[in-house]
Amino acid sequence: MQNIRSPICTVVGHVDHGKSTFLDKIRGSSIVDTEPGQITQAIGASLIPISTVRQICGPLVERMNMKITIQGLLFIDTPGHAAFSSLRKRGGTLADIAVLVVDINEGFKPQTIEAIEMLKQFRVPFVVAANKLDLIPGWVAKENDICFLDALKAQNENAQQTLDRKLYETVGKLFEHGFNSERFDRVSDYTKQIAIVPISAKMGIGIQETLMVIAGLAQKFLENNLRLDVAGPAKGTILEIKNIKGMGTCIDLIIYDGILKAGDIIVIGDMEKPIVTKVRAIFEPAPLSETRDAKSKFHSVKESKAASAVRLSAPDVENAVAGMPLRAATEETLEAAKEAVQKEVKEVILETDKNGIIVKADTLGSLEALLNMLRDRKIPLRKAAVGNISKKDISDAESNYDENPLDSVILGFNVVVPPDVVQLQKVKIFTNNIIYKLIEDFEKWKIDEARRIEASAVDLLTRPCKIELMRNYVFRQSNPAILGIEVLSGTLKSDMPLMKNGHALTSARSIQHEKETVSQAEKGKQMAVSMDGVTVGRQIVEGDILYSAIPEADFRKLKELKKYLSKDEMETLKEIAGIMRKENPIWGV
Ligand code: GDP
Repeated sequence: MQNIRSPICTVVGHVDHGKSTFLDKIRGSSIVDTEPGQITQAIGASLIPISTVRQICGPLVERMNMKITIQGLLFIDTPGHAAFSSLRKRGGTLADIAVLVVDINEGFKPQTIEAIEMLKQFRVPFVVAANKLDLIPGWVAKENDICFLDALKAQNENAQQTLDRKLYETVGKLFEHGFNSERFDRVSDYTKQIAIVPISAKMGIGIQETLMVIAGLAQKFLENNLRLDVAGPAKGTILEIKNIKGMGTCIDLIIYDGILKAGDIIVIGDMEKPIVTKVRAIFEPAPLSETRDAKSKFHSVKESKAASAVRLSAPDVENAVAGMPLRAATEETLEAAKEAVQKEVKEVILETDKNGIIVKADTLGSLEALLNMLRDRKIPLRKAAVGNISKKDISDAESNYDENPLDSVILGFNVVVPPDVVQLQKVKIFTNNIIYKLIEDFEKWKIDEARRIEASAVDLLTRPCKIELMRNYVFRQSNPAILGIEVLSGTLKSDMPLMKNGHALTSARSIQHEKETVSQAEKGKQMAVSMDGVTVGRQIVEGDILYSAIPEADFRKLKELKKYLSKDEMETLKEIAGIMRKENPIWGV
């Protein structure tokens, strides 16, 4: 039996830009008021029946001469992009359509950009809700304003112009991310332009226009994607695993295809092998309530059809993870279902013995999004898995160190390092809950670290140095010879080999300053230096200039690393090359 399911709609955007308030207005309940700190803390979903969509849109439907054909909208209340990515479906996302909420006064923020990049990556059509319209200077909001276009007409010119200016800033930002956009009522072609609807989620202004645009987009572009086999076995994605008092471990699940019945065998993807269990009970939230709202009444149902958000109670699901695929099966189809879900998991996770970094994420979807971005940047990967950072991850990362210290890295998205896991000095761990920040921090570190490693490589070489044997400062003729010297260029280090006229003669055995032994002397310093194997008056005389005796191989490396040498070291290096090439014209070439 073919049918058309409700589009799955996600609300994404930066924290505090008004996602919960927007959903709340649509649901007509008051989740924002009951939440501590008014921050969205969990994932929920609510089905907005078509009657409610019609009711909210009101006379606008007739005014716009639009016919609503979808059955309703299944809204996922996502706290930003993190939950969006747990809505993973093979090769894409479960989200059919998205509302990107942007605080019009604050503009784009890191999570706004993250959300746009995700929507782009998964090709999800979206509408921008430019929120907090009521805070635009000069905007006068009236009690019963609902329609944005009507409210706009009542504003003075100044407020209208400010709004337009802010909208064009948004248009500019979207353009930077590769999207053409326009205020929704000025959009000429919805296939080419993203619609921006100015709203005030708090006052309820523009909500009806946003719903109209969503319904329009869904009807126009999604109908084929929304056809499904309602009678087939259920296919779904896990949104969240929760421990609920009196119910045990429960799964919040989005069913995107088929039908799930109480008593069905279910197969859930997992890192090693699939979890096979049976549905004990299915609970659906009452329409217009929300799965994350503790007070909302769940009712137990015998079956649930796609698209729906349900809570399942089932044994042995404690270790299941968000973002994992779930399939209903019969005894006959069990093996095939197991194979299918595991194949999906294996497409994302990765375990190799190649060189590369280790990546951990909280859900399969976020892992996939992170891996895609790392692959785009050609960052080599050794291992990628779902879950917190473990002892094994750390020892795996450490074993990369000798081969390439820049690979002994773990990136963790939305995961933690458990306190009992000892962090080793050789392993660098980055965690963040914004993917691109995580990658940005890692890439910045990599550049700095590469530079640091290179710079320390220079110190393993004999660097250019030039000294003058000062006149009238011979303290001892030989065995060893001790003289006063001045460093003319570079840094003299103890044990540095020294040469005159291209021939290595001796080395700076020890360097003394006011009777104290020091390990080095910089340019301009005058020191007493002892030297073996030379006698003042024979191999060396007062007033001689000595250079560090740079081995040819070191010279070649120094040329490569010349950015770490000072200006006078560079000059000295050239002088040394000139001296050496008198006897051997191809020295160091
Ligand atoms: P979320 O983190 O994106 O879910 O943001 P919330 O919905 O929790 O909103 C954050 C804050 O902004 C709350 O204090 C809301 O009351 C406030 N807020 C949301 N929408 C509007 C609006 O349209 N106008 C004004 N003035 N405040 C708003």
